[in-house]
Amino acid sequence: MLNRKLFKLLNKSNYMHVFNKKKERVIKTIALGSGKGGVGKSSLTVLLAHVLRRFSLKVGIIDADLYGPSLSLMLPPEIPLKVSEAGRIIPALSQGIKVVSLSHFTQGREAMMVRAPIANATIKKFVEDVDWGDVEVVLIDLPPGTGDIQLTLMQMVSLTGAVVITTPSKASIIDVKKSIEMFQRMNVPILGLIENMSYFEDRLTHLRQYPFGQGRGKKLAEEFAVNFLGMVPLDEEICDSLDEGSSIFENRNPGAISEILEEIGIEIRSKICDDRGVISKIEKIFHNDEFLELSCGGNSYRYKFSEIQKRCPCARCKGEGVVDEKVVAIEIRKMGNYAISVHFSSGCSQGIYTWQHLENYSSSALV
Ligand SMILES: [Zn+2]
Repeated sequence: MLNRKLFKLLNKSNYMHVFNKKKERVIKTIALGSGKGGVGKSSLTVLLAHVLRRFSLKVGIIDADLYGPSLSLMLPPEIPLKVSEAGRIIPALSQGIKVVSLSHFTQGREAMMVRAPIANATIKKFVEDVDWGDVEVVLIDLPPGTGDIQLTLMQMVSLTGAVVITTPSKASIIDVKKSIEMFQRMNVPILGLIENMSYFEDRLTHLRQYPFGQGRGKKLAEEFAVNFLGMVPLDEEICDSLDEGSSIFENRNPGAISEILEEIGIEIRSKICDDRGVISKIEKIFHNDEFLELSCGGNSYRYKFSEIQKRCPCARCKGEGVVDEKVVAIEIRKMGNYAISVHFSSGCSQGIYTWQHLENYSSSALV
């Protein structure tokens, strides 16, 4: 059952219009939609939040899937959601991600019984009356389908973009077309399509099996002229880490799967964060024990590794506060054309750094 707190809250109407122009700082909003349930949309929302955080973005999530809110399990709150005196929602905090979910208002894990008017009022509250603080990107985990909640939300929020998720199964493909059409009709830019549960890879033989069919996601993206963001496999490590409520990036060695997710994160980040509309390709990378040198568009900067590690978004580097000035790189990995990740001698390899990211700190560069 919904608790009283929510009902009381919905009756307050001091909406602050968090996402609209009255605010100076514009929060980017990305809706994640699917045609069907059971395509792993909520899991991907959480994984994308973790990835975007690695780019040092401050990330929030609205669990708008009111009929099956599941984010509390994957992102168990370290600091619970609160409601201020004025009736504003202060999001829960989990692994550095701010979260607002209907499940924060319920006692147990039982299925929601939310009638349409309450659902719409709840969504309105969630998008208009949350104190996001310094959050830069909010991911909105939509319920599957193309119903009332989706339309209400799109009328209230000027979305930066939408990401559409499907599995390769015929049924999912048929339904996700409706989602794509809905976003297109509502003039929401589609950032891309992700095919989830694309295949299962045997850890020993690396042989891939395609239980739901092959190639349908990519074909669909082509048909609708939508950017194909990638194929995410069924993966035991991902399932385990999400079930445990931990991040695969912090606690495990996820291998190929993390690279797939990072590539998707790079694409999404470049689409929402680069205001010039052009992503800067990193042309040259050079490093020795003293510095890292990056070149891009005729500019070069040299950075001490300690300066780079200071920008690491991970909890450990942030928590310790002090970075060893003598830290060096054990390994530097180029990620696509636009970003690098650095494995520092201190052990951390959590951060992803784009040219834009480092250019912002060019004043701390050596040359
Ligand atoms: Zn770190």
